[in-house]
Amino acid sequence: MSAATLHLEVPILPAAAEDLRLDVRAFIAEERAGGRLPPPTKVGLGFSVEMTQRIAKRGWIGLTWPRVYGGQERSALERYVVTEELLAASVPVGAHWIADRQSGPVLLKFGSEAQKAFYLPRIAGGECFFCIGMSEPDSGSDLASLRSKAEKVPGGWRINGRKIWTTNAHRVHYIIALVRTSTVEGSRHAGLTQLIVDLKAPGVTISPIVSMAGEHDFNEVLFEDVFVPDDALIGQEGNGWNQVSAELAYERSGPERWLSSFRLINELTTALGPEARPSSLEALGRLLSHLLALRQLSLSVASMIQAGRPPNVEAAIVKDLGTKFEQEAVRVVRDIVSAEGLADGGDPRSGRLRALLMHAQLMAPAFTVRGGTNEILRGIIAKGIGLR
Ligand SMILES: Cc1cc2nc3c(=O)[nH]c(=O)nc-3n(C[C@H](O)[C@H](O)[C@H](O)COP(=O)(O)OP(=O)(O)OC[C@H]3O[C@@H](n4cnc5c(N)ncnc54)[C@H](O)[C@@H]3O)c2cc1C
Repeated sequence: MSAATLHLEVPILPAAAEDLRLDVRAFIAEERAGGRLPPPTKVGLGFSVEMTQRIAKRGWIGLTWPRVYGGQERSALERYVVTEELLAASVPVGAHWIADRQSGPVLLKFGSEAQKAFYLPRIAGGECFFCIGMSEPDSGSDLASLRSKAEKVPGGWRINGRKIWTTNAHRVHYIIALVRTSTVEGSRHAGLTQLIVDLKAPGVTISPIVSMAGEHDFNEVLFEDVFVPDDALIGQEGNGWNQVSAELAYERSGPERWLSSFRLINELTTALGPEARPSSLEALGRLLSHLLALRQLSLSVASMIQAGRPPNVEAAIVKDLGTKFEQEAVRVVRDIVSAEGLADGGDPRSGRLRALLMHAQLMAPAFTVRGGTNEILRGIIAKGIGLR
C-alpha cells in the first residue's frame, strides 16, 4: 500500500441514515424532556444500564448484525449516524459500548455458531456487557509480549495471569482475554488466543485502579487457575493476533475518537454568546473546521467497513488526528474561557463549562494512549503506506 492507495473517499449518507438520525434526535429530545438526560458535567462515556436498555428497545445496539442474532441488518453508515448522534448529545452509552463496537463484531466474524446464538441477541437486547482484556502490567504497546497463559485441560482451558487498565471490568459480565496458549519459534504473534471469561468465575479477582480524575473506571483483573470450557475459545487457537488486529480497527475509527471534547466546545459556544471577541471566534472557527474534516475521515472509514475492506491504516489515521484534535480542543477552550473571563461567571452555564473543562483537562492525557498510543499508530501508518 502507498499513500495513494489509502481509501479516504467520503460517502454520501443514504436517505435511510438521515431518517434514522431524526429518530435518534427524537429519542434524545424525549429523554431530555423526561429528565433522564441531564446536561453533562464530564467528558467520556457515562455508564447507565437503564439507558442502554432503552437504546436496545429501539433496536440500536448490534444495528448491523443479522436479524437472526438480534440485529437489524442495517448499514455501517446507519450505525455511524446513531453513534454520532448519541455521543454528540452526551447520552451515557458506556454499558454496551465495547460489546456493540468490538466484542460483538469479533464474535460475528470469528465466533462459533453457538457463541453467536448465545451472546449476540443478549448484547443487542442490552442484557450482556463486555470488556477488553489485552493490556498487562509490562505489555501495552508491545502487546505480543504478554505473559498471561492458558493451558489445555480436559474439557477446557486453565488461565493464569494479570490484565490491567481493564475499563469497566467491575461493571460488566464478560472479558475477552488475549492469552498465550503456545510458543512458536520465530513468531511472537503466533500462539496467542482469545478466550471469553465470565467475570464471576472462580479465580477471577477484580481490583480498582483510580484515575487521576479520582474516578474508578479501570481495573486490574487477576486470573488464578480460572477454568473456562472449550466453547470459550473464539476462532482458532493461536490466531488471536489476527483477530485482535481486526478488533482494534473497529476500536480506532469511530466518532468517539473526536467527540469526547465536542460537548466542551458545544458548551463553550453556548456560554460565549454574540459578544465574543474576534480572536475567540477565530480560534473556535478553526476548531470547528478541523472537527468537520475529522468527521469526513471517520465517515470514510465507516464506508470501508460497509464495503468489507479492512480499514486498519485509515482507522489509525483517524485515531491519531482525532485524539490530537481532542487535546488541542481542551487547550483552546481553556484559553478562550480565560480570555473571556468565563472562569469567574456565576451563571449555571459558566459553572457547567468550568466543570467540563476541569474534567477534560484531567482526562485529555488518556486520549492519545487508550486504544493504542499515537506513536504506535504512526508506526502502523508508516508501514501501511510503505515508508517503513
Ligand atoms: C483510559 C484508558 C482506558 C484503557 N482501557 C483499556 C481496556 O479496557 N483494556 C485494555 O486491555 N487496555 C486498556 N487500556 C490500556 C492501553 O491500551 C495502553 O495503555 C496502551 O496500549 C499503552 O500501553 P502502556 O500503557 O503499557 O504504555 P507503553 O507501551 O509502556 O508506552 C509508554 C510510551 O512509550 C511509547 N512507545 C512504546 N513503544 C513504542 C515504539 N515501538 N515506538 C515509539 N514509541 C513507543 C508509547 O507511545 C508511550 O508514549 C486503557 C488505557 C487508557 C488510558
